[in-house]
Amino acid sequence: MKVHLIKPNSSMPNILIIEDELDIADLISMNLQRDGFNVEMAHDGAEGLNLALKNQPDLIVLDLMLPTMDGYQILKEMQRDTRAHNIPVLMLTAKSQIEDRILGLEKGADDYLTKPFSPKELVLRVKSILRRRQSTPSTNVFSHGPFLFDKNNLAFYLDEEPVSLTSIEFKLLLYLCQRAGTTQDRTKLLRAVWGYSDDVHSRTLDTHMKRLRQKIGGFSSLIETVRGIGYHVATVK
Ligand code: CA
Repeated sequence: MKVHLIKPNSSMPNILIIEDELDIADLISMNLQRDGFNVEMAHDGAEGLNLALKNQPDLIVLDLMLPTMDGYQILKEMQRDTRAHNIPVLMLTAKSQIEDRILGLEKGADDYLTKPFSPKELVLRVKSILRRRQSTPSTNVFSHGPFLFDKNNLAFYLDEEPVSLTSIEFKLLLYLCQRAGTTQDRTKLLRAVWGYSDDVHSRTLDTHMKRLRQKIGGFSSLIETVRGIGYHVATVK
């Protein structure tokens, strides 16, 4: 006879919540656990970053204003570290300023929610981010000219040299390369990368593309800006 113990479900994603307001952290935790997620919490920035690097959760819910280290600093540190640079982040911001949301997305957050938010909406966003992250096992590796994408590990290689891309940069370039030879308009790109398109996300697109071009250096000529429409990656022989 099998004995079922109540323990973390190893098949469910692990979510790290970094939020200093205890009642909000508890509310998020409760709602995620109700949907079967495994949850861990940190109540200040430095502790949160440590847990992110140590445990490498499947997703981080990250508050912007935190003691010891704010959300932007955490994003920056995560991107410098190969243990954390491709962990998806849902950012929480109390500020309604559009610039704060744009900054969060530009610094590598996958999405954001403005406080106050409904816990239900948060769970939906978490699921949506994780769904977009899922790779199809049959096609793990995609290559285009000098680019090689390892979709399972979100690893990117340029002429066989590893280059660290953020998850947004990875998704953008992969999407364009898989449709090489055709121009992709901004709406399509935004939907592919963030799941939907709006002005906030649109304003960050060009910043991500600019940074992506810097990272691929001499090969950036393969990416063409089509003014007023979107972007285009050239076909390769
Ligand atoms: Ca806070």
